[in-house]
Amino acid sequence: MADYKKPIPDPDPYTTGPFWDGAKQGKLFLPRCTDCNRAHFYPRIICPFCHSTAIEWFEASGEGWIHTFAVQHRAFGGWADEVPFVTAYIDLKEGDRMFTVLRGVDGNKPEEIKVGAPVKVEFEAATEDVHIPFWRVVG
Ligand SMILES: [Zn+2]
Repeated sequence: MADYKKPIPDPDPYTTGPFWDGAKQGKLFLPRCTDCNRAHFYPRIICPFCHSTAIEWFEASGEGWIHTFAVQHRAFGGWADEVPFVTAYIDLKEGDRMFTVLRGVDGNKPEEIKVGAPVKVEFEAATEDVHIPFWRVVG
């Protein structure tokens, strides 16, 4: 982990703490509004749908589908070693979307990546305390 060269998030205990605490345990936690019952991502202290401040965190399934993707041929820092890699928006099973890097796909063969393909979250340890979610095509 000491040689992790990619950018490392700086978790904020007030807004994103439960997300990163869950990630450290290999679990995907999402915020959900208890007034309109909709999950959202990125974490916010105000519901983006109804503007309520009644937010709770719950353990999500870690399942979703590829909404769209793009192959990255240029990158800087630690990501430069991985080009071409694939970034994607994931439609989360519980609602809303998450931007990610797809694992287990070949950036040289984008024709093999399908919009709508099922994916599952997995976590990579950047530091002892920060584990970063990635998504992998399943099935
Ligand atoms: Zn709401």
